[in-house]
Order: sequence, then C-alpha cells, then structure tokens
Amino acid sequence: MLKSKFGNKLFISPEQTVQYHDKKEKMKIIDFHTHTFPDRIAEGAIANLSAASNTVPFSDGTVSGLEKCMKEDGVDLSVVLPVVTNPVKAQNINHSAAEINKKTDETGIFSLGGIHPDTPDYKAVLDEVKALGLKGIKLHPDYVKVGFNDIRMKRIMAYASEIGLIIVTHAGLDIGLYPPVFCTVDQILEVVREVQPEKLVLAHMGGWQLWDEVVEKLADKKVYLDTAFSIGDFHWVKEEEKKDFRMLTDDEFVNMVRVFGSGRILFATDSPWASAGDYVARIGKMPLTDEEKEDIFHRNAERLLDL
Ligand SMILES: [Zn+2]
Repeated sequence: MLKSKFGNKLFISPEQTVQYHDKKEKMKIIDFHTHTFPDRIAEGAIANLSAASNTVPFSDGTVSGLEKCMKEDGVDLSVVLPVVTNPVKAQNINHSAAEINKKTDETGIFSLGGIHPDTPDYKAVLDEVKALGLKGIKLHPDYVKVGFNDIRMKRIMAYASEIGLIIVTHAGLDIGLYPPVFCTVDQILEVVREVQPEKLVLAHMGGWQLWDEVVEKLADKKVYLDTAFSIGDFHWVKEEEKKDFRMLTDDEFVNMVRVFGSGRILFATDSPWASAGDYVARIGKMPLTDEEKEDIFHRNAERLLDL
C-alpha cells in the first residue's frame, strides 16, 4: 500500500494503475453535488447562471433533466444541493427537497436541505431538516455574501453538526461571481478549529482555484472534498470572454486523493455545470486503484448518507 505523508508531492506506482473500464462490473456511481430548480424557474435560472459564469450547462436544470443525464451517464444516485439565497425561503425549499426525496427510489435523486445565515430561528429550521430526513445542508457563502467564518455560519454549523447533519459548503472562488472569496482556506481552518464539524464537505476539491493552499493547509484536517467542477475542460459560452481559470490536472487530482486519502474524496460534478459521463470516464482512467475508485465513486457517499 502506498503510504503518503500529508503535504508531500506524491508519485504514482505503475502497479497501482487499474483502469476503471477494465472492471467487469460497472461501479456504482453517486454524484454528491448537483443542482436542480423548480420547473417554472429552471429556464431563467440556468440562463442567468450560464451568462454569469460564461459556461455551458449540460442539462436544463430541472429534476427530470437531471434524471435524463443520469440515465445517459450511468449515475445511480444524485445528491441535490439547494442554495438558499433568501433567508425566509429556507423552509419552503426544504419542503420541496422532501418532495423530491419521496421519489428517490424511482428517480435516483436525493436532495439535502438548505439554510441562509439570516434565516430566523435557525435551530428550528435545522431540526426540521433533520425531521424531514434531508440528512444535511448546503451552505453557499459566496451567494449570500457572508463569510464562512461569520458567527452566523458557525452557529448554524455547530448546531447542524450537533444533530448529525452533513454540511456541504461551496469553497473557493465561484466562477460566476467575483472576488472577494467568502470561503477561503483560512476561513475553513478557523471553522474546523472552533466548530469541529463532524461531517464537513468542501466542494470543488476544498476550494476552487485555491488547490495548492488546500493541500498545504487542510490535508490533516477532518474534512471531505467533493470533486465538483474541478477537472476536465471548460465549456465557455463565449470563447472570446473566457476567464483565466484552470482545472486540476490528472496528476494534481491523483496527488490530492493520495494526500487526503481516498476515504475523504466524494465523486461530484456540479451538474448541470459538468457532465457526469465525462467525469466518470476521466477519473476512471486515472492511475488510482479500484479500491480508491470505489471509495470515491460511491462508498464515501454511502457512508456519509448512511445508505
Ligand atoms: Zn454547486
């Protein structure tokens, strides 16, 4: 077994190279980071987000659109992460999430809950998330323009963790918004130190565009990383307006898996902003062991979601 010290630059031994497509049975795939919108607003929401980020969506942003993509891409379960941008809408959004989850057996789509840092009576809302069986919450510091280390975020995370909820947060830069970044690596460090959340998932491999710092500062911390929108090609709407961002190379990605351990990496796309088929193929071809791939593609998610 390849052992690594946190923060080390790693090597890949050739005997560990096992191709996903060599496997006889298809691995189960759980996409831990997807987005859907209610049918009546999906078209407008996707158009706005696509314009703001200058990236092409891979589905129409509806639940049925996601379902269609999952069938094409061989995804067994998709986890929807609702972003609550209006404090008083948290409860409505959580009830809609519970509606989506009534059909999980048919659709393979499971929604977590959401909350806004200014949601009144946050403990009651989190208790309801728990009672509705949503299993976790999504936080998006950049969309609500509240720092991840703000006291309002910390108290939400402290209580969510106390009642056993998963906390997924957007981390690092958001391609559709501009700096300042509201969830930096140092802010994450502060939260981990003070709040000590049990099940904290940092989207976009711990901090979009901040990956060197993520490896340097978070490798020995109790956090999960999701792979959403962190590998592959950019699909710009207007090539002439493309931004100067980069995705992780295969080497960097494999290095992060080894530095953090495959037990802490969750397969995720950020659908509709990346294609699960493309992500599965890319990670499948990387020089990771089948064990590591099983962890990433479904085992860690099953453990966190208690499936
Ligand atoms: Zn996302």
